[in-house]
Amino acid sequence: MELKTTTDIRIIKADSSKINSVDFENLTFGNIFTDHMLICDYNNGKWEQPVIMPYEPFTLDPSAKVFHYGQAIFEGMKAYKDEHDDVWLFRPDQNFDRFNKSAVRLAMPEVPEDVFLGGLHKLLEIEKEWVKKGFGNALYIRPFMIATGSGVVAAPSTQYRFTIILSPAKSYYSGEVKVVIAEHFSRAANGGIGAAKAAGNYSGQFYPTKLANEQGFQQIIWTDDATHTKLEEAGTMNVFFRINDTLYTAPISERILDGVTRKSIIELATKEGIDVQVRPVLVDEIVEAAKNGTLQEIFGAGTAAVVNPIVGFSYKETYYELPKPENSFATFIKQQLTGIQYKQIEDTFGWTV
Ligand code: PMP
Repeated sequence: MELKTTTDIRIIKADSSKINSVDFENLTFGNIFTDHMLICDYNNGKWEQPVIMPYEPFTLDPSAKVFHYGQAIFEGMKAYKDEHDDVWLFRPDQNFDRFNKSAVRLAMPEVPEDVFLGGLHKLLEIEKEWVKKGFGNALYIRPFMIATGSGVVAAPSTQYRFTIILSPAKSYYSGEVKVVIAEHFSRAANGGIGAAKAAGNYSGQFYPTKLANEQGFQQIIWTDDATHTKLEEAGTMNVFFRINDTLYTAPISERILDGVTRKSIIELATKEGIDVQVRPVLVDEIVEAAKNGTLQEIFGAGTAAVVNPIVGFSYKETYYELPKPENSFATFIKQQLTGIQYKQIEDTFGWTV
Protein backbone atom coordinates (compact mmCIF):
# COMPACT_ATOMS: atom_id res chain seq x y z
CA MET A 1 0.00 0.00 0.00
CA GLU A 2 1.25 3.50 -0.70
CA LEU A 3 0.24 6.72 0.99
CA LYS A 4 -0.74 9.58 -1.30
CA THR A 5 -1.27 13.28 -0.67
CA THR A 6 -4.01 15.16 -2.42
CA THR A 7 -3.82 18.30 -0.29
CA ASP A 8 -1.63 21.02 -1.66
CA ILE A 9 1.23 21.36 0.81
CA ARG A 10 3.43 24.44 0.79
CA ILE A 11 7.10 23.50 0.96
CA ILE A 12 9.85 25.80 2.25
CA LYS A 13 13.17 23.99 2.08
CA ALA A 14 15.98 24.49 4.61
CA ASP A 15 19.04 26.29 3.15
CA SER A 16 21.31 23.47 4.22
CA SER A 17 21.03 20.09 5.92
CA LYS A 18 22.51 19.27 9.32
CA ILE A 19 22.54 15.55 8.54
CA ASN A 20 26.34 15.38 8.17
CA SER A 21 26.86 16.71 11.68
CA VAL A 22 24.78 13.90 13.25
CA ASP A 23 26.52 10.89 14.79
CA PHE A 24 24.03 8.19 13.80
CA GLU A 25 25.97 5.53 15.70
CA ASN A 26 25.56 7.26 19.05
CA LEU A 27 22.04 8.62 19.14
CA THR A 28 20.21 9.04 22.39
CA PHE A 29 16.48 8.62 21.90
CA GLY A 30 14.46 11.69 20.98
CA ASN A 31 17.06 14.47 21.09
CA ILE A 32 17.98 15.13 17.47
CA PHE A 33 15.45 16.27 14.89
CA THR A 34 15.57 16.34 11.11
CA ASP A 35 15.83 19.45 8.92
CA HIS A 36 12.09 19.92 8.34
CA MET A 37 8.77 19.72 10.14
CA LEU A 38 5.17 19.89 9.01
CA ILE A 39 2.80 22.36 10.59
CA CYS A 40 -0.88 22.96 9.99
CA ASP A 41 -2.91 25.56 11.87
CA TYR A 42 -6.59 25.48 12.72
CA ASN A 43 -8.30 28.88 12.76
CA ASN A 44 -11.87 30.11 12.31
CA GLY A 45 -13.25 26.59 12.38
CA LYS A 46 -11.05 25.16 9.64
CA TRP A 47 -7.65 23.71 8.86
CA GLU A 48 -5.35 25.99 6.88
CA GLN A 49 -2.84 24.90 4.25
CA PRO A 50 -0.18 22.56 5.71
CA VAL A 51 3.40 23.80 5.44
CA ILE A 52 6.61 21.78 5.42
CA MET A 53 9.31 24.14 6.64
CA PRO A 54 12.70 24.19 8.36
CA TYR A 55 12.63 22.81 11.92
CA GLU A 56 12.60 25.80 14.26
CA PRO A 57 11.07 27.03 17.56
CA PHE A 58 7.45 28.20 17.77
CA THR A 59 6.37 31.57 19.11
CA LEU A 60 3.27 31.34 21.32
CA ASP A 61 1.38 33.77 23.47
CA PRO A 62 2.15 33.13 27.17
CA SER A 63 -1.58 32.74 27.74
CA ALA A 64 -1.89 29.99 25.09
CA LYS A 65 -4.22 27.32 26.46
CA VAL A 66 -1.72 24.50 26.05
CA PHE A 67 0.42 26.06 28.81
CA HIS A 68 -2.41 26.37 31.30
CA TYR A 69 -4.92 23.63 30.62
CA GLY A 70 -2.77 20.98 28.97
CA GLN A 71 -4.88 20.69 25.85
CA ALA A 72 -2.28 18.64 23.99
CA ILE A 73 -2.15 15.22 22.32
CA PHE A 74 0.48 13.26 20.43
CA GLU A 75 1.33 10.05 18.62
CA GLY A 76 4.46 7.91 18.34
CA MET A 77 5.33 5.88 15.27
CA LYS A 78 8.41 4.83 13.28
CA ALA A 79 9.66 4.70 9.69
CA TYR A 80 12.01 1.87 8.68
CA LYS A 81 14.26 1.44 5.64
CA ASP A 82 14.57 -1.91 3.87
CA GLU A 83 17.47 -3.39 1.88
CA HIS A 84 16.31 -1.62 -1.27
CA ASP A 85 16.26 1.84 0.34
CA ASP A 86 12.48 1.89 0.46
CA VAL A 87 10.94 3.55 3.51
CA TRP A 88 8.11 1.77 5.35
CA LEU A 89 5.58 2.66 7.98
CA PHE A 90 3.88 0.16 10.30
CA ARG A 91 0.08 0.44 10.44
CA PRO A 92 0.01 4.27 10.21
CA ASP A 93 -3.77 4.21 9.82
CA GLN A 94 -3.97 2.97 13.41
CA ASN A 95 -2.01 5.95 14.71
CA PHE A 96 -4.11 8.30 12.63
CA ASP A 97 -7.35 6.84 14.03
CA ARG A 98 -6.05 6.92 17.59
CA PHE A 99 -4.88 10.52 17.19
CA ASN A 100 -8.33 11.64 16.20
CA LYS A 101 -9.92 9.67 19.05
CA SER A 102 -7.56 11.52 21.40
CA ALA A 103 -8.55 14.80 19.71
CA VAL A 104 -12.25 14.15 20.31
CA ARG A 105 -11.63 13.27 23.99
CA LEU A 106 -9.68 16.52 24.52
CA ALA A 107 -12.34 18.60 22.71
CA MET A 108 -9.91 19.35 19.87
CA PRO A 109 -10.70 19.32 16.13
CA GLU A 110 -9.96 16.10 14.22
CA VAL A 111 -7.08 16.33 11.77
CA PRO A 112 -7.92 15.39 8.16
CA GLU A 113 -6.29 12.21 6.78
CA ASP A 114 -4.67 14.22 4.02
CA VAL A 115 -2.91 16.44 6.52
CA PHE A 116 -1.85 13.67 8.91
CA LEU A 117 -1.04 10.76 6.59
CA GLY A 118 -0.61 12.71 3.36
CA GLY A 119 1.56 15.30 5.12
CA LEU A 120 3.65 12.57 6.74
CA HIS A 121 4.19 10.93 3.37
CA LYS A 122 5.44 14.16 1.85
CA LEU A 123 7.63 14.97 4.86
CA LEU A 124 9.22 11.50 4.76
CA GLU A 125 9.89 11.87 1.05
CA ILE A 126 11.88 15.02 1.83
CA GLU A 127 13.64 13.50 4.85
CA LYS A 128 14.26 9.96 3.57
CA GLU A 129 18.05 10.29 3.96
CA TRP A 130 17.43 10.50 7.70
CA VAL A 131 15.99 6.97 7.75
CA LYS A 132 19.09 4.82 8.04
CA LYS A 133 19.32 1.29 6.72
CA GLY A 134 20.13 -1.55 9.09
CA PHE A 135 18.27 -3.49 11.70
CA GLY A 136 17.36 -1.34 14.72
CA ASN A 137 17.71 1.97 12.89
CA ALA A 138 14.51 3.95 12.49
CA LEU A 139 13.11 7.43 12.20
CA TYR A 140 10.84 8.12 15.15
CA ILE A 141 7.78 10.14 14.13
CA ARG A 142 6.09 12.47 16.59
CA PRO A 143 2.81 14.00 15.36
CA PHE A 144 1.22 16.28 17.96
CA MET A 145 -1.43 18.94 18.39
CA ILE A 146 -1.52 21.83 20.87
CA ALA A 147 -4.07 24.49 21.77
CA THR A 148 -2.53 27.75 20.58
CA GLY A 149 -5.45 30.07 21.29
CA SER A 150 -4.76 32.69 23.96
CA GLY A 151 -6.66 33.51 27.13
CA VAL A 152 -6.50 32.10 30.65
CA VAL A 153 -10.06 30.89 30.56
CA ALA A 154 -10.62 27.20 31.25
CA ALA A 155 -12.44 26.39 28.04
CA PRO A 156 -11.37 24.67 24.82
CA SER A 157 -9.23 26.75 22.50
CA THR A 158 -10.52 27.89 19.12
CA GLN A 159 -7.02 27.77 17.62
CA TYR A 160 -4.75 24.76 17.31
CA ARG A 161 -1.49 23.74 15.69
CA PHE A 162 -0.88 20.25 14.33
CA THR A 163 2.82 19.44 13.86
CA ILE A 164 4.96 16.47 12.80
CA ILE A 165 8.60 16.30 13.83
CA LEU A 166 11.02 13.45 13.10
CA SER A 167 13.88 12.11 15.20
CA PRO A 168 16.44 9.48 14.08
CA ALA A 169 16.63 6.58 16.55
CA LYS A 170 18.79 3.54 17.16
CA SER A 171 17.48 0.26 18.41
CA TYR A 172 16.02 0.95 21.84
CA TYR A 173 17.60 -1.01 24.65
CA SER A 174 16.57 0.00 28.14
CA GLY A 175 18.78 -2.42 30.07
CA GLU A 176 17.29 -4.74 32.70
CA VAL A 177 13.78 -3.63 33.59
CA LYS A 178 12.54 -4.25 37.11
CA VAL A 179 9.06 -2.99 37.88
CA VAL A 180 6.99 -2.20 40.91
CA ILE A 181 3.26 -2.92 40.94
CA ALA A 182 1.28 0.22 41.80
CA GLU A 183 -0.53 -0.01 45.12
CA HIS A 184 -1.51 3.64 45.49
CA PHE A 185 -0.88 5.77 42.40
CA SER A 186 -2.88 5.43 39.17
CA ARG A 187 -2.17 6.61 35.63
CA ALA A 188 -5.80 6.61 34.56
CA ALA A 189 -9.31 6.31 35.91
CA ASN A 190 -12.70 5.27 34.57
CA GLY A 191 -14.24 8.23 32.84
CA GLY A 192 -10.82 9.87 32.49
CA ILE A 193 -8.39 10.30 29.61
CA GLY A 194 -6.21 7.19 29.99
CA ALA A 195 -7.22 5.82 26.59
CA ALA A 196 -6.13 9.06 24.89
CA LYS A 197 -2.52 9.94 24.11
CA ALA A 198 -2.93 13.16 26.06
CA ALA A 199 0.15 14.99 27.36
CA GLY A 200 -1.24 15.12 30.92
CA ASN A 201 -1.29 11.33 31.19
CA TYR A 202 2.48 11.38 30.95
CA SER A 203 3.23 14.26 33.33
CA GLY A 204 1.02 12.53 35.90
CA GLN A 205 3.27 9.46 35.72
CA PHE A 206 6.54 11.31 36.31
CA TYR A 207 6.30 11.64 40.09
CA PRO A 208 5.31 8.03 40.95
CA THR A 209 7.91 6.81 38.43
CA LYS A 210 10.56 9.01 40.06
CA LEU A 211 9.76 7.41 43.43
CA ALA A 212 10.01 3.94 41.84
CA ASN A 213 13.36 4.90 40.24
CA GLU A 214 14.70 5.97 43.63
CA GLN A 215 13.91 2.47 44.92
CA GLY A 216 15.80 0.84 42.04
CA PHE A 217 12.87 0.10 39.73
CA GLN A 218 12.75 1.36 36.15
CA GLN A 219 9.00 1.33 35.68
CA ILE A 220 5.65 0.91 37.32
CA ILE A 221 3.03 -1.64 36.37
CA TRP A 222 -0.15 0.37 36.67
CA THR A 223 -3.18 -1.17 38.29
CA ASP A 224 -6.84 -0.15 38.03
CA ASP A 225 -7.52 3.00 40.06
CA ALA A 226 -10.57 1.69 41.91
CA THR A 227 -9.20 -1.50 43.45
CA HIS A 228 -5.50 -1.78 42.45
CA THR A 229 -6.13 -5.49 41.86
CA LYS A 230 -5.89 -5.60 38.05
CA LEU A 231 -2.66 -5.18 36.08
CA GLU A 232 -3.10 -2.74 33.21
CA GLU A 233 0.00 -1.16 31.65
CA ALA A 234 3.77 -1.13 32.21
CA GLY A 235 5.21 2.39 32.21
CA THR A 236 4.20 3.74 28.82
CA MET A 237 3.65 0.32 27.31
CA ASN A 238 0.93 -2.28 27.22
CA VAL A 239 1.83 -5.38 29.19
CA PHE A 240 1.77 -9.14 28.58
CA PHE A 241 2.13 -11.97 31.09
CA ARG A 242 3.06 -15.54 30.22
CA ILE A 243 1.84 -18.22 32.61
CA ASN A 244 2.97 -21.67 31.45
CA ASP A 245 2.53 -21.30 27.67
CA THR A 246 -0.42 -18.91 27.64
CA LEU A 247 -0.06 -15.16 27.10
CA TYR A 248 -2.42 -12.86 28.99
CA THR A 249 -3.09 -9.17 28.45
CA ALA A 250 -5.80 -6.86 29.76
CA PRO A 251 -8.66 -5.82 27.47
CA ILE A 252 -8.68 -2.24 26.19
CA SER A 253 -10.73 0.06 28.39
CA GLU A 254 -11.10 3.74 29.22
CA ARG A 255 -7.94 3.35 31.32
CA ILE A 256 -5.72 1.59 28.80
CA LEU A 257 -4.17 2.90 25.60
CA ASP A 258 -5.13 0.87 22.52
CA GLY A 259 -1.52 0.09 21.57
CA VAL A 260 -0.66 -0.73 17.97
CA THR A 261 2.10 -3.10 19.13
CA ARG A 262 -0.29 -4.82 21.58
CA LYS A 263 -2.95 -5.51 18.97
CA SER A 264 -0.31 -6.65 16.46
CA ILE A 265 1.21 -9.04 19.02
CA ILE A 266 -2.20 -10.53 19.80
CA GLU A 267 -2.77 -11.25 16.09
CA LEU A 268 0.75 -12.41 15.36
CA ALA A 269 1.12 -14.67 18.41
CA THR A 270 -2.31 -16.22 17.78
CA LYS A 271 -1.34 -16.90 14.16
CA GLU A 272 1.89 -18.53 15.35
CA GLY A 273 -0.13 -20.94 17.49
CA ILE A 274 0.40 -19.25 20.88
CA ASP A 275 -2.65 -19.25 23.15
CA VAL A 276 -3.42 -15.57 23.82
CA GLN A 277 -6.09 -14.66 26.36
CA VAL A 278 -7.40 -11.10 26.48
CA ARG A 279 -9.00 -10.76 29.90
CA PRO A 280 -8.41 -8.86 33.16
CA VAL A 281 -5.12 -9.99 34.73
CA LEU A 282 -5.20 -10.00 38.53
CA VAL A 283 -2.27 -9.01 40.72
CA ASP A 284 -3.03 -12.01 42.95
CA GLU A 285 -2.82 -14.56 40.15
CA ILE A 286 0.51 -13.16 38.94
CA VAL A 287 1.96 -13.21 42.47
CA GLU A 288 0.66 -16.77 42.89
CA ALA A 289 2.12 -17.82 39.51
CA ALA A 290 5.47 -16.25 40.46
CA LYS A 291 5.41 -18.22 43.74
CA ASN A 292 4.52 -21.56 42.17
CA GLY A 293 6.93 -21.19 39.28
CA THR A 294 4.37 -21.03 36.43
CA LEU A 295 4.98 -17.34 35.66
CA GLN A 296 7.44 -17.48 32.76
CA GLU A 297 7.64 -13.95 31.38
CA ILE A 298 6.35 -10.41 31.64
CA PHE A 299 6.99 -7.94 28.86
CA GLY A 300 5.94 -4.44 27.85
CA ALA A 301 4.85 -3.76 24.27
CA GLY A 302 5.13 -0.43 22.46
CA THR A 303 6.50 1.30 19.40
CA ALA A 304 9.79 2.47 20.96
CA ALA A 305 11.12 -0.90 22.15
CA VAL A 306 8.64 -3.22 20.38
CA VAL A 307 8.97 -5.73 23.21
CA ASN A 308 10.61 -4.87 26.53
CA PRO A 309 11.25 -7.91 28.77
CA ILE A 310 10.81 -7.40 32.51
CA VAL A 311 13.22 -9.32 34.76
CA GLY A 312 11.30 -9.05 38.02
CA PHE A 313 8.63 -7.21 39.94
CA SER A 314 8.01 -5.94 43.42
CA TYR A 315 4.68 -6.09 45.21
CA LYS A 316 3.98 -5.29 48.87
CA GLU A 317 7.71 -5.06 49.66
CA THR A 318 8.49 -8.50 48.19
CA TYR A 319 10.61 -8.83 45.04
CA TYR A 320 9.85 -11.67 42.61
CA GLU A 321 12.56 -12.62 40.13
CA LEU A 322 11.39 -14.04 36.80
CA PRO A 323 12.96 -17.08 35.10
CA LYS A 324 14.77 -16.72 31.77
CA PRO A 325 12.99 -19.28 29.59
CA GLU A 326 14.96 -20.70 26.64
CA ASN A 327 12.07 -20.41 24.21
CA SER A 328 11.17 -16.87 25.24
CA PHE A 329 7.93 -15.60 23.72
CA ALA A 330 9.22 -12.02 24.05
CA THR A 331 12.29 -12.80 21.91
CA PHE A 332 10.30 -14.74 19.32
CA ILE A 333 7.60 -12.06 19.01
CA LYS A 334 10.16 -9.28 18.75
CA GLN A 335 11.97 -11.14 15.94
CA GLN A 336 8.75 -11.70 14.04
CA LEU A 337 7.44 -8.17 14.42
CA THR A 338 10.71 -6.42 13.61
CA GLY A 339 11.19 -8.86 10.72
CA ILE A 340 7.91 -7.61 9.27
CA GLN A 341 8.74 -3.95 9.99
CA TYR A 342 12.13 -4.18 8.21
CA LYS A 343 10.64 -6.25 5.38
CA GLN A 344 12.83 -9.27 6.17
CA ILE A 345 9.81 -11.47 6.83
CA GLU A 346 6.85 -11.50 4.47
CA ASP A 347 4.05 -9.27 5.77
CA THR A 348 1.05 -11.57 5.42
CA PHE A 349 -1.05 -9.16 7.51
CA GLY A 350 -0.75 -6.16 5.17
CA TRP A 351 0.59 -3.99 8.02
CA THR A 352 3.45 -2.28 6.20
CA VAL A 353 2.81 0.81 4.11
N1 PMP B 1 0.46 2.53 26.57
C1 PMP B 1 0.85 3.82 26.70
C2 PMP B 1 0.40 4.60 27.88
C3 PMP B 1 1.68 4.40 25.72
O1 PMP B 1 2.09 5.67 25.84
C4 PMP B 1 2.11 3.61 24.61
C5 PMP B 1 3.03 4.20 23.58
N2 PMP B 1 2.31 4.85 22.58
C6 PMP B 1 1.65 2.29 24.52
C7 PMP B 1 0.83 1.79 25.52
C8 PMP B 1 2.03 1.43 23.35
O2 PMP B 1 1.36 1.86 22.20
P1 PMP B 1 1.96 1.59 20.75
O3 PMP B 1 2.18 0.13 20.64
O4 PMP B 1 0.90 2.07 19.83
O5 PMP B 1 3.22 2.36 20.66
